[in-house]
Amino acid sequence: MSEAEARLIEEAGRRLGAKAVITDLKEIDPWVSDWRGRVHGATPAMLAPASTDEVVEIVRLAAEFRVPLVPQGGNTGMAAGATPPADGSAILLSMRRLNRIRSISADNHLAIAEAGVILATLHDAAHDIGMRFPLTLGARGSCTIGGLASTNAGGTQVLKFGTMRSLVAGVEAVLPDGSVHSGLSGLKKDNRGYSLDQLLIGAEGTLGVITAVALRLVPAIAARAVAWAGVDSPAKALELLRFLEVRTGSIEGFELVPQDSLGLVLKHMPGTRAPLAGSHRWHALIEATTADANTDVAAELERLLGAALQQGVTADAVLAASEAQAEAFWKLRDTISEAERAEGQTLAHDISVPVADMPAFIADAAAKVEATFPGVIATGFGHLGDGNIHFHVRAGTHAAPDWYDSEGDRITRMVDDLVTAAGGSISAEHGIGQLKRAEFARLAPPGRIHALRAIKQALDPLGIMNPGKLVP
Ligand code: FAD
Repeated sequence: MSEAEARLIEEAGRRLGAKAVITDLKEIDPWVSDWRGRVHGATPAMLAPASTDEVVEIVRLAAEFRVPLVPQGGNTGMAAGATPPADGSAILLSMRRLNRIRSISADNHLAIAEAGVILATLHDAAHDIGMRFPLTLGARGSCTIGGLASTNAGGTQVLKFGTMRSLVAGVEAVLPDGSVHSGLSGLKKDNRGYSLDQLLIGAEGTLGVITAVALRLVPAIAARAVAWAGVDSPAKALELLRFLEVRTGSIEGFELVPQDSLGLVLKHMPGTRAPLAGSHRWHALIEATTADANTDVAAELERLLGAALQQGVTADAVLAASEAQAEAFWKLRDTISEAERAEGQTLAHDISVPVADMPAFIADAAAKVEATFPGVIATGFGHLGDGNIHFHVRAGTHAAPDWYDSEGDRITRMVDDLVTAAGGSISAEHGIGQLKRAEFARLAPPGRIHALRAIKQALDPLGIMNPGKLVP
């Protein structure tokens, strides 16, 4: 531990009390590696403020002692953005104690949640007042509102509601100089120049610490229908989505699942079973919802899937017969990453290309990667309707234990080159963090990098906010 860190920790303890300063390395240990267990960091302390004022104190101390902070929510991020550097030169700033829902209003369609509120807790609170926060994803039981905003998370309902950017009405944040940006008024119209709120969304903790977020709510769902369809190819899956979309406005989730991923889930996740009897190379998980109690959304989806079946758009389909079965279908999708982790080494690429180009991209990129790196299994799953899939490359069964480290960079470069050539993005929803920083620097247009660096330098000249992340 450096002398500066020791002084910061001592001063933080004096000002904020013992609860806010954790130095027991056993307690810190679960939080210094990323969710996938790929990147391991170290830190002499984890600070855990319980109010915006306490965050201000900590940021001022960090500036005074020139000790960087690494903000962390649920640590479910996929780009190791919340993992401190391995040399122990930064302090972890856990936001999980800042976890009050300050207000929630059905009249305003707005909730103000502190950064450490868990997404599932917000879902429950909105449900209690007859409303809904529509963004959801597999990590909803542990990811936080601050982390979701800081990564501009997407999830499974982006098709209808957009990413965090469209669901955040304003942000409260402590900037690197210790000043507080208060953007929680929830104004629908506010044209006072640059939007600091939007700048902080997706900034991955590099421009300040988000302490609270004003979130847009929508009316609660009166009913939902969830279906599982077997399709021959991603092109057929997209055709099915378009078929449904022109006939109903109720589709809000549409996830592509390859047989390879379903097989891993069935193998590793207890209590799971395949929804369809026959075998299919690809699957689509479809969710239709309505806020209108008089609309029979299940009957509508069943009728449309029947028509799609007749016209050869889908090969087979089944509607969940109960809420429990609907949850079971979603579990098949939400646990793909977990099942992959249980299976072995997987390289994840969260990529996007124009929606209509995605089916051809998946086929082309998978063929090229598998031909160039014999033995690997390349496939894509996820948010097809957003033009965003998780293009994952798994080590074959005979891969060396160090496959990820020895082959990973070469495979990733190939995938990223293919994505860039297709006019896409190497990070659709997971951010850059530290895992994609080098590739971002290699492939991003110089103007983009220049602007990022200029903004970072202007707001954080001392470099105390999450150094080594996002900004090359
Ligand atoms: P963390 O992982 O703790 O942090 C993420 C980044 O935000 C870091 O850079 C961190 O420094 C910064 N940060 C955190 N809190 C703050 C704060 N208060 N102020 C400033 N910076 C902060 N993501 C998707 O977009 N779509 C998906 O469908 C999706 N599915 C997932 C499924 C699973 C099973 C898992 C494990 C993850 C998934 N993710 C998905 C990724 C992840 O859940 C999101 O990125 C989420 O937004 C991270 O929230 P967190 O609280 O865990 O943030």
